[in-house]
Amino acid sequence: MSLTYERYEFKKFIKELKSKVGRGTELISLYIPPGRNVYDVVKYLRDEYDQASNIKDKLTRKNVQSAIESIIQRLKLYRKIPENGLVVFCGAIPQGKDRGTEKIEIYVIEPPEPVRSFQYVCDHEFYLEPLEEMAREKKAYGLIVMDRGGGVIALLRGSNYKILNWVSSDIPPKHSAGGQSQRRFERIREERVHDFFKRLGIRANEAFLPIEDELEGIIIGGPGDAREKFEEGNFLDYRLQKKVVANIPLSYTEEQGVRELIIKAEDLLKESTLYKEKTLVEEVFRLLARESGKVAYGIHEVETALMNGAAEKVLILEDIPVKKIKIRCSQCGYEEQRILRKDREVLLKDWKCPTCGATIYESEEVDIIEYLGELGKQTGAEIFVISSDTEWGTQLRALGGVAAVLRYETRE
Ligand SMILES: [Zn+2]
Repeated sequence: MSLTYERYEFKKFIKELKSKVGRGTELISLYIPPGRNVYDVVKYLRDEYDQASNIKDKLTRKNVQSAIESIIQRLKLYRKIPENGLVVFCGAIPQGKDRGTEKIEIYVIEPPEPVRSFQYVCDHEFYLEPLEEMAREKKAYGLIVMDRGGGVIALLRGSNYKILNWVSSDIPPKHSAGGQSQRRFERIREERVHDFFKRLGIRANEAFLPIEDELEGIIIGGPGDAREKFEEGNFLDYRLQKKVVANIPLSYTEEQGVRELIIKAEDLLKESTLYKEKTLVEEVFRLLARESGKVAYGIHEVETALMNGAAEKVLILEDIPVKKIKIRCSQCGYEEQRILRKDREVLLKDWKCPTCGATIYESEEVDIIEYLGELGKQTGAEIFVISSDTEWGTQLRALGGVAAVLRYETRE
């Protein structure tokens, strides 16, 4: 999954499940790997059902058994466990403050990645770690920026880079005295360079080997020739050495060098989320400059474009600064929807029903990304959720946090 709306939905679903807490140890999480026989799983659940009869607390016992029964009923609809396995969450979720208001809720999903092992967990909350692991952005690039003065080890994941380690060197600067002492000095210097490369290699191995499978590549860069000597000298573990995809000359070291490396390695990083996001936002701004009729921006324009089926791609900032609110008159049931800036609450204070004049209402906040995402699904638009803590995130924020590339020009 990349930065698409599906990923956002999946993360949101996990968050929702996370908010559900049972009164007792009575929420069941069931992870079924692909290839497992449905009949065997049902048999396993029947055993758990029988064991649950030992639970002392009467209501907990009833809730656990009802949950198991619901899962069995649901599993019977499957002749075969789907390709990636199946994950089921089921349990009695309190609907109010009092004991006894619980209702059995069940969620069955076919996960985006294969379930690795069979797990049955009964706890007061759902066991979500394997799902969270699936939702995590995995594609990553290892970055090493260095010269003889020191090195930085960084990781580019999703739309962000993170510095993992700094390695300093204690190499004396070259000096020009001749003769015997100069030769000895050179030898000492060479030893220290070697020692520094070795330490840098060890640190890089420590940082990258544990995530070897997730690394799409390692990119080295820096001023001078130290970066080449480092790569040629095989200071990296052989498994990482194989992953080095480029070695790029830079003007800067340290964090500035890391940023320079990311820019210069653009071609290699094209598949990364970072560049996909950047490219999408750039496309919007390029169109704005040349064919502004092919872009809609701001929540109202984009909403209209989606409703008319004119939007082809929609870019939404992950923390878009607007929210959608549904208002319902408590007296006559009149309904309206409003889009407000997140920092403005006051507007609603003077709300008055246009039909009956009542001032009492119920309101409900609608997740705006979900709202736009659903509109997009209905009209065949692609929805992208853009990270907010980047340069292009900031550019998108300047357009109200949402923009759409249109299928055809809609304005003069
Ligand atoms: Zn009313």
